[in-house]
Amino acid sequence: MRIDLHTHTTASDGTDTPAELVANAAAADLDAVAITDHDTTSGWVEAVAALPPGLRLVRGAELSCRSPDGRGGHCTVHLLAYLYDPRAEAVVAQHAEARAQRRTRLATMAERMAADGFPVSADELLASLPEDSTAGRPHIAMALVRAGLVSTVDEAFARFLNDRGRYYVPSSRSPVEASIETIAGAGGVTVLAHAFAHHRGTTVTAEVIKELAGLGLGGVEVDHPDHDDEARARLRGLADDLGLIATGSSDYHGTNKVLRLGQETTAPAMLDAIAERATGVEIVVGS
Ligand code: AMP
Ligand code: FE
Ligand code: FE
Ligand code: ZN
Repeated sequence: MRIDLHTHTTASDGTDTPAELVANAAAADLDAVAITDHDTTSGWVEAVAALPPGLRLVRGAELSCRSPDGRGGHCTVHLLAYLYDPRAEAVVAQHAEARAQRRTRLATMAERMAADGFPVSADELLASLPEDSTAGRPHIAMALVRAGLVSTVDEAFARFLNDRGRYYVPSSRSPVEASIETIAGAGGVTVLAHAFAHHRGTTVTAEVIKELAGLGLGGVEVDHPDHDDEARARLRGLADDLGLIATGSSDYHGTNKVLRLGQETTAPAMLDAIAERATGVEIVVGS
């Protein structure tokens, strides 16, 4: 079994449509794939409709949240949420609020860049996004690529868009504790994404993960392209100590990133543990 539980589509900042994602997952020899767009479930229906025979689809999302960093400050964390009821009132409200904040934030970043002479327009960026889709920095990055200012999305992040850059604005103010509760209340399971991806910016301490585990966090993403060996070893140890599910995933974004679907994978027993705990929606198998 090859299982990849973290991918993005055009419903947020990936470049595959949901239908292309599931087709590419089958072509990459995956047995199970999760769709985890940022703060939206708007790609779920298309992905289910296009599911190739035998492929399992885990419906999910990746929530941007604000967390204590364990050092007296705060940082942004990403919470993967699986198999929850997308119609639960608190979920609908959380996603809508996060998407609205992300649009305002992307416009702020684009306006600041435009004021400095960058060829980006906040209005054009927002107008180009499908309804219910989620705005993200990769959309600015793609505009910079189209304008010929940089040759890749990675270069745009390295030079202008990273968390330490002067144009950066945090993406969401939704507290991670509340999001864990909201997803649990909708029958879903939460997994903290790329928690120790230190090069992205400030990360949480192990103590924070322990506290979140006490609040119902279900797991941690251990194997992720942005984790070095030490980060993986520490997270695996934490998962063992705290009884958390340990996952591995590619965080595929189509051509916005160089990594491949199935580059990192999750053990079947771990997906079973997620499915056993979840009561919101089921894993769908393509027929
Ligand atoms: P945002 O969610 O708007 O804060 O933007 C973060 C998104 O940009 C995440 O989905 C990342 O996967 C993506 N991202 C972060 N750093 C890079 C990078 N160096 N190159 C390409 N994409 C990146
Ligand atoms: Fe993304
Ligand atoms: Fe993420
Ligand atoms: Zn992601």
